[in-house]
Amino acid sequence: MILYKSPGEIESLERSNALVLRILDALEAMVAPGVSTADLDRESEELTRKAGARPAFKGYRGFPGSLCASINEEVIHGIPSKKRVLKEGDIVSLDFGVVLDGYYGDSARTVAVGKIPEESRRLLAVTREALEKGLAQAQVGLRLSDIGFAIQSHVEQAGFSVVREFVGHGIGTSLHEDPQVPNYGTPGGGPLLKEGLVLAVEPMVNQGSPEVRIQSDGWTAVTVDGLPSAHFERCVAITSSGPRLLGSSSGRG
Ligand code: MG
Ligand code: MG
Repeated sequence: MILYKSPGEIESLERSNALVLRILDALEAMVAPGVSTADLDRESEELTRKAGARPAFKGYRGFPGSLCASINEEVIHGIPSKKRVLKEGDIVSLDFGVVLDGYYGDSARTVAVGKIPEESRRLLAVTREALEKGLAQAQVGLRLSDIGFAIQSHVEQAGFSVVREFVGHGIGTSLHEDPQVPNYGTPGGGPLLKEGLVLAVEPMVNQGSPEVRIQSDGWTAVTVDGLPSAHFERCVAITSSGPRLLGSSSGRG
């Protein structure tokens, strides 16, 4: 069942997402060779508690961390660890969520560790652009699959591939609400987009083939071909005046 949010609920989601973006900014600033994903996880949780919120992912279906930190060929759901130390040339996807006053925020970005290969730079740029193309389709009167079509088209034109196994989602007083938001599709299909719908749009883009598998820890999704993967996510409210990117009051676009 799709839940449509009132203007007041959208303001609550604005605040939870602004907190997520501020924390991601702080984590991004920490990213450097020698920093472990456990260091990033600890900082994310501390900042969340200080803000009077709680981490959304910790304990979610038993996930052990507050942050999902996925390095290079890891697509999503990387478990933070002291043993996973960032090194020059890596890319690391930081996926983070909070619950603030009962409302969820959820965002992700992939960050370069020092100087990275040109093809990794292009992967990050194309994935970020694909997210923007998808968000631009979050318009009253369009249909859900227009978002996935815009993302998939941009990614494939660039010679990369979109992951099928993981999708975006509605968000509100639950982390994952209906509808699912695939990062692929044909135009003009699925539910009509209506005012008050709030979606987390989150393309996961592989440099090589789209196939992924889950590692033996039961969480970490990795590319089957071992090539890098990137992930960018933002929440958007569909309003009569167009897509409203949530969390923008943090000063981040
Ligand atoms: Mg997320
Ligand atoms: Mg999400």
